[in-house]
Amino acid sequence: MVIGMREGCQKGEVALVISALRQRGLEPRIISPGPQVVLGVVEEISQALAEELTAQISRLAGVEEINRFGTSWKLVSRNFRAQTTSIKLGRGSIGGREVVVMAGPCAVESRQGYLELAQRLAPLGAGVLRGGAFKPRTSPYSFRGLGEEGLKIMAEAREITGLPIVTEVLRASDVELVARYADVLQIGTRNMQNFALLEAVGEVDKPVLLKRGLMATIKELLLSAEYILARGNWQVILCERGVRTFETETRNTLDISAVPLLKQHTHLPVLVDPSHAAGKRELVPALARAAVAAGADAVMVEVHADPERAFSDGRQSLTPEAFADMMADLKKVAAALGRGLGAAA
Ligand code: PEP
Ligand code: MN
Repeated sequence: MVIGMREGCQKGEVALVISALRQRGLEPRIISPGPQVVLGVVEEISQALAEELTAQISRLAGVEEINRFGTSWKLVSRNFRAQTTSIKLGRGSIGGREVVVMAGPCAVESRQGYLELAQRLAPLGAGVLRGGAFKPRTSPYSFRGLGEEGLKIMAEAREITGLPIVTEVLRASDVELVARYADVLQIGTRNMQNFALLEAVGEVDKPVLLKRGLMATIKELLLSAEYILARGNWQVILCERGVRTFETETRNTLDISAVPLLKQHTHLPVLVDPSHAAGKRELVPALARAAVAAGADAVMVEVHADPERAFSDGRQSLTPEAFADMMADLKKVAAALGRGLGAAA
């Protein structure tokens, strides 16, 4: 429920509305402190109670209008915050005029390999370095990452390049460890509905990159984000990374309509990962261009110095040369839309 007060109303009038709601066990939040004060009630309330409250509150002085959210997500809703949330990262931000490109290998494989690649990506315009230290793998016998050692290598790459780092956290019990090193905590597609993990990252003061579940609807993605915001962390970046369909030509199907839909429904910034969507490196630049054209705030791609020898996801990893070509094209697409490619560093 959203309650809009009349512009210039008295503080005491706002207090009366708040206390009427509190008497019903509800905890209103301030959506806008002024000039028009707007209050929001996010708790689920029955139709009957909503009608009763509407009748009671509309009689109070200073109340101009009362609306229902109309959706099951509240804090992430554009009704709650009209302006896109801009998340500060390094010396830049995600969710502003600049489109940020995150790049790096699927997994951190070795110190030397990662540091060399990071130093090639930084001058090519990468704004954030990616890499997995804790890898979710379909087979328990595949390479599952270097763990804390991988985090240390990424932190060293940040020192050298000045670029922020994003990496996946797999378990709630690892959140504190990963947050000690990473600038952005990634929740992978397989964990989008791991509600304990979502609540754990909701209590950390670090941006979270929340990937859409491979069979999740947009509504489910928004509700997963709601778990994080409800715990107090509003720094959430939503990620479209392809969903599973009948098509076998690609690893997943990139749902490009997710970008404008999310932009419509939520104030949170939107990122597209074309690598895990396509599964084939030759498709990645075209999908990245489509993402920027559709209005994405950021793009994340996998890059490997020698993709054929990568421990994971080599087939979809760009070479640094292909990454450089992609960046030149993305710059043009962004410029056509009045945007630039931003280094978050
Ligand atoms: C990744 O980014 O390396 C990854 C495992 O992605 P996803 O969770 O989208 O499969
Ligand atoms: Mn990967």
